Amino acid sequence: MKFDHVRTRFAPSPTGYMHVGNLRTALYAYLTAKSMGGKMILRIEDTDQERQVEGAVDIIYNTMRDTGLLWDEGPDIGGPVGPYVQSERIGIYKEYALKLVELGAAYYCFCDKERLEEVRELQKASGIAPQYDRHCRNLTPEEVQAKLDAGEPYVIRQKVPLEGTTTFDDVVYGSITVENSTLDDQVLLKADGFPTYNFANVVDDHLMGITHVIRGSEYLSSAPKYNLLYEAFGWEIPIYMHCPPVMKDATHKLSKRNGDASYQDLVAQGYLKEAILNYILLLGWSPKGEKEVFSLPEMIEAFDIHGISKSPAIFDTVKLRFLNGEY
Ligand code: GLU
Ligand code: ZN
Repeated sequence: MKFDHVRTRFAPSPTGYMHVGNLRTALYAYLTAKSMGGKMILRIEDTDQERQVEGAVDIIYNTMRDTGLLWDEGPDIGGPVGPYVQSERIGIYKEYALKLVELGAAYYCFCDKERLEEVRELQKASGIAPQYDRHCRNLTPEEVQAKLDAGEPYVIRQKVPLEGTTTFDDVVYGSITVENSTLDDQVLLKADGFPTYNFANVVDDHLMGITHVIRGSEYLSSAPKYNLLYEAFGWEIPIYMHCPPVMKDATHKLSKRNGDASYQDLVAQGYLKEAILNYILLLGWSPKGEKEVFSLPEMIEAFDIHGISKSPAIFDTVKLRFLNGEY
C-alpha cells in the first residue's frame, strides 16, 4: 500500500435525490476506508449554486445516517470540523488559483462571452472540437496588470502544456494516456470568484489528505487534467477508482435529477435498508467466496477494491427483492 493513513471521501453535489448509484459510491468509499482501518469524510460539493436543489443536503445527511455510512469528521460525531461544505471554503480556492498563476500553470483570461461564443462557432464550422483558443495565454504581465487595474472581469484558466502526453492511472480502468493538445485550458476560477467543480475537487482532495478517490466514471475524462494540477502544485496524486454507472436499462443511466431509484423511494416501498445496502454492494463488486448476504461489518471484512468491475450494472429489483426476503 502506498499510504499509511487511508482517507476516502464521499463528495456529492446536492443536485437532487440520492439514487442507488450515488449510495453505492458512498458505500465503496466507506468500505475502502474501513477495510484498511482508515477514515471516510463527507464533503458537500455545492459550488455550482445554479444546479442545487433545495433539501438535497439534508437528504444526503439523512441517507448516510440511516444506512450507517457515518462519516468520520464532524461536530455531531465528536470531531471539531466537517462535514465539509465547499461553499464555505470559497476563499481557499481563490488563493490556490492565484498560487497556480504564480507557478506559471494558470493564467488570467479576460475574454467575454461574445468572443468565446464566436470562437466556438468558428471551431464548430471547421469541424474542430470546441476548445478555448488560448487567446489570453499570450498577454504580457503588464497587459494583465492593466486589465486588473481597470477592473475588467476575469476567470483563471489552467495552462495545459501544448505538447506531450499525460498518463492517468485508475484502479478500475487501468492506465489512460491522452495527448495534452486535446485537453482544454479549463476554467479553474469563475468570474464570480467561485471555483469550478474540478478545481475545488482537486484542492480539497489534497488539503483533506485524501488517499483514495472513489467516484463515478462520468468524471474519468476530467482526470488527466487533475494530474497536471497535482504536478504543478507538487502534490502527491491520490489513488483513483472510477466506478462504472448504474443503469436504469441498457441505454439510460440512473439520474438524480429525475429521482430515479432513489434511496428514499425504495425505503418507502418497503425495502429494508440492510437489503438495499447489500444489493448495491454487489452491483459492480464481486466477493471472493460464495457468500451473498452481508451485514455492514461483514462487508468491511470482505471488501477489496480490486473486486470492482468495469462493466456497467443494471438496477433491477429481482435481486433486491430476494435480499429483502421476498422469495
Ligand atoms: N460532486 C460529484 C457528484 O456529486 C462527485 C465528484 C467526486 O466524487 O469527485 O457527482
Ligand atoms: Zn481569454
